[in-house]
Amino acid sequence: MNHIHLKPRYGRIVFVAACIVFLAVAIHFVWARPDDAYTSFKTVSSEHKTVGEKQELFQEENEEKLRFLHYPAFSQEQMDKVVKNYIDTLPDELGITFVDYECEEVFDQYISLIFHYQLFDQQQNVKQVNHQYFTFQKESGNIVGLPDILRRDYINMIKTAFKKQANVDVKSIDGISFSIDENVIHLYASQKEVALPFNDIKKYIKLKGKGIASEPIRYQRIFKNSTIYDEKLIDKDTETLSIDPDKPMIAMTFDDGPSNLTEEVMKIFIDHKATASFFMLGQNVENYPNIVKYMAEQGFEMCNHSWDHQSIDTNDKDLITHEVFDTQDAIYGLTGIEPTRMRPPYGAFNNFETKEIVEGNGLGITLWNVDTLDWKSRNSESVKSAVRQHTFDGAIILFHDLYPSTVDAVKELVPELQSQGYQLVSVSDLIKYKGQ
Ligand SMILES: [Zn+2]
Repeated sequence: MNHIHLKPRYGRIVFVAACIVFLAVAIHFVWARPDDAYTSFKTVSSEHKTVGEKQELFQEENEEKLRFLHYPAFSQEQMDKVVKNYIDTLPDELGITFVDYECEEVFDQYISLIFHYQLFDQQQNVKQVNHQYFTFQKESGNIVGLPDILRRDYINMIKTAFKKQANVDVKSIDGISFSIDENVIHLYASQKEVALPFNDIKKYIKLKGKGIASEPIRYQRIFKNSTIYDEKLIDKDTETLSIDPDKPMIAMTFDDGPSNLTEEVMKIFIDHKATASFFMLGQNVENYPNIVKYMAEQGFEMCNHSWDHQSIDTNDKDLITHEVFDTQDAIYGLTGIEPTRMRPPYGAFNNFETKEIVEGNGLGITLWNVDTLDWKSRNSESVKSAVRQHTFDGAIILFHDLYPSTVDAVKELVPELQSQGYQLVSVSDLIKYKGQ
């Protein structure tokens, strides 16, 4: 305890010594700093790095080629692979390569990763700048693409946005990268950036809770080996039926509904553990929302048959877009499930614009190969005999769920066709297994 009672003389010496030590340390730091010319490349801020462990890799091959790389590690195979691939394929340039990054979670669904690449010359002047954007599904680590976050005729919407905001003509959306923020999607192409605020593009947004559909309807009934179902919408008490790809199959399709008879039609299929596809008019979807929700729950395939049965075989892009995509919106808005098939009214789609708008936005044009002419006969006997005469393995049969005569015919046809060994499947599954 002696040093506590030092005489003033000693105290002064200790104080002076402490000052000298402090000064020496300070001089070391201040003067030594310029010796390490690369300090600014070695440390990066922790801001916007809330996901992953910060990693650094410094490679000083020689005076002419130095690399200072900062990147995240996730302990998640898929995501770490993407990072490794980015680092491994960086351009091998003379000068100072510097990589920094931002990595954050976006509304509990996605992880957004942005790499900022800069190349400096020996005088530390910036020579090149480049940014790369990745979005991952938080749970799976899968890379998210534009079709995963946008819907409808979003390709046209993006092209228009680039034209309007950046005066750039985008030919294809292939080269476009993006990042998702809390309220906006940023798109990048041709060194230009375009912003799409969620509020302005609500109907184009697929993101949960951000677009026009709230929660997607969950299936109460599904068919194993089917193409059309989203695993995430299957509950554990969902009834699972199955399709045998090697056995004969028929797709029964119903146009122009839904109507007040559609529920009865669905019940026939449910009772016989079968399914069908409904090509619906948007205006009727609007009139029978509960029928459409029930259709989604029961795993029937919901397809598009225009808004109000106007021909879309026209050059009028606005008309085609309304007929096709307002119907998509009506079904998607109610069920959270996006139809993937469109049957043009009257089967007419010769026009280039029609194909471009329908098929160019991912909707498969789907016709039929057996016509019951039920709308004409309104007679269940003639509907049944049309089916009996013409059906085959791979048949896509056209009905309309508008007439009691059709419902009566279907009541008999469903068990009859099943007893002949036919499986009654959705049109998408029929095409999957039997071809177009
Ligand atoms: Zn029709």
